[in-house]
Order: sequence, then structure tokens, then C-alpha cells
Amino acid sequence: MKNMTSKKRKANLNCIRPTHTYTMRELANTLDIALSTVQRWKRLGMPVIPETNPVLIDGAEAKQWEKARRLARKRPCAPNQFYCFGAQCRTQRQAAIGSVIIRKSNSNLGSIEGICPICDSNLRKGFAMKDVFEVEATFEAYIGNVLDLLRYRTPP
Ligand SMILES: [Zn+2]
Repeated sequence: MKNMTSKKRKANLNCIRPTHTYTMRELANTLDIALSTVQRWKRLGMPVIPETNPVLIDGAEAKQWEKARRLARKRPCAPNQFYCFGAQCRTQRQAAIGSVIIRKSNSNLGSIEGICPICDSNLRKGFAMKDVFEVEATFEAYIGNVLDLLRYRTPP
């Protein structure tokens, strides 16, 4: 039986059946959480099955994604680290030397991308453009191509 506080508790991921696909509402009901929470997860990058309408979610992928996200939150990354979502890693990693690209997304936000030296997964995290010089200093040793470094400084 549901109680009044159930929507505030952390979802029990063991309720997700890995072999099942879910609509967003079904996933919310399965986990006994608000639909808006599932919608937020989707905005934060929870994998969905491409070109499905209504959107369908693979149970195994959703479970893995939320597990990794909880872990990442528990163990925050150092400035020069990324959280690697690669199956063998699922931990903080520094990018391979020479693999890092800094991109300007818009006037406020940029992204840092690299490759995991352990599992070859793509690493990515965002940053605020106001911190770009700090980011540049932090990742100087990891950046492969100086042109990539300069690109974000050039107005689009
Ligand atoms: Zn990795």
C-alpha cells in the first residue's frame, strides 16, 4: 500500500524490470515517483529508445543510468576528472592525454570532451564560460590540438 511520504523517498531501482520497456508514466508508477521526476531524468540525459512516440525507455538502460548518476553524486569528480559511464569503469577518470577538446556551446556554457584511457568511452562535462580560463589551465596538459583550444575563444 502506498503511503503519503512515498513520493519523497528515493526510488527503489530494483522495481525496474531490465527486460521491460516503459513509457515515462509507467516508469514513474513502477518506481512510485512523480512523473515530473522521470521527465527531469530524461532532460538530464536518461537514455530513451530513439524515435518512439510516446517515448519508451529500456528498463535495463534506465536502471543503469540512474545507478551511475547516484554513484557520481556520491563521489564528485576532481576538476580534471570526468565521470566515466563506460561499463568497466563507472568511476572518475582523467581523460587520455591529447584527447581533450573544449567547446563553446553558447555565450554562457561550454563543454569539455575527452576519451577514457581505460575503456575508450567518451567523457563529457559542462562548464560555465565565465570559468573558461580555469578550465583551460586545468586541462592544458590533456588538450591535443591548440586550434581546438582557440576555437572557443573566437566569437561564433
Ligand atoms: Zn572508462
